Amino acid sequence: VLRLNFLLGRLMTQFNGIMRNFGTVQNAAELISKPVELVDAANAKPLTVRQPEIRFEKVSFHYGRGKSVIEGLDLTIRPGEKVGIVGRSGAGKSTLVNLLLRFYDLQGGRILIDGQNIAEVSQESLRAQIGMVTQDTSLLHRSIRDNILVGRADASDEYLLQAARRAQADSFILTLEDQQGRKGFDAHVGERGVKLSGGQRQRIAIARVMLKDAPILVLDEATSALDSEVEAAIQSNLDELMKGKTVLAIAHRLSTIAALDRLIVMDKGRIIEEGTHAELIERGGLYAELWARQSGGFIAVDEAAQ
Ligand code: ADP
Ligand code: MG
Repeated sequence: VLRLNFLLGRLMTQFNGIMRNFGTVQNAAELISKPVELVDAANAKPLTVRQPEIRFEKVSFHYGRGKSVIEGLDLTIRPGEKVGIVGRSGAGKSTLVNLLLRFYDLQGGRILIDGQNIAEVSQESLRAQIGMVTQDTSLLHRSIRDNILVGRADASDEYLLQAARRAQADSFILTLEDQQGRKGFDAHVGERGVKLSGGQRQRIAIARVMLKDAPILVLDEATSALDSEVEAAIQSNLDELMKGKTVLAIAHRLSTIAALDRLIVMDKGRIIEEGTHAELIERGGLYAELWARQSGGFIAVDEAAQ
């Protein structure tokens, strides 16, 4: 397992720079397909977003030679709509949002943003329109500043600091010093730099999306590594950031997404229920069961499972 962790660490380093979600590796024998570098189509145009509508049309996907993970899924998210995705671990939630960023190509169907097929636009222009925070953030082996500026390279120091503040990251950043004596935003991250905790890395990723201010926001358990006090402080800033944006949010605590416009419940790669929180509680299906198990959504999924 140590050796596997080491190899995984090496892999993560190699894929640094693009946020990718490897999913949860439950046992070492489980096959992990790594994202291949997809090549832009020869005639790839830049994605232009006027109305950030997202449309999944009969989307089917499986990793490598594995079994189907997303099966004929249809989902339309209106411009400005905020949708929560709920489901047990392994249901395909992270896979679905990773497909939106085209980390993998589909085996069937298509995904459109504002009417444009994401497989036909340049990947750079696609990713420029989407702000994403995942469960596990890998950072560049560069300065904290560079890591946040990934969101918007030309941002001023003032905006950089403001983004860090909104992500509750400013105070810990200011205490950092790497082995070369570089401090604060200039401290380097990585092997010979500062080591950050999962929660600190997640706050850097949140600062990135705050700065990026893209029209589409994808939050995949974006606050899972934070303690509840910090999470509460950031949540109101995230709510503010969501205004006017099209949002796809996967929550580890259902209470963080219960108030969204619409909730989609996934099971085995399909949508099995959808509606508002009240409608889904009334329905008494999987969502109601998960909500009850989390005692009103305040316990994280993994804690509730124990
Ligand atoms: P969720 O986010 O709902 O917990 P995921 O989308 O991470 O679910 O995973 C869906 C299924 O796909 C699971 O069976 C998981 O083991 C598998 N899976 C996820 N990522 C990979 C990967 N990179 N390679 C192979 N299988 C994967
Ligand atoms: Mg997931």
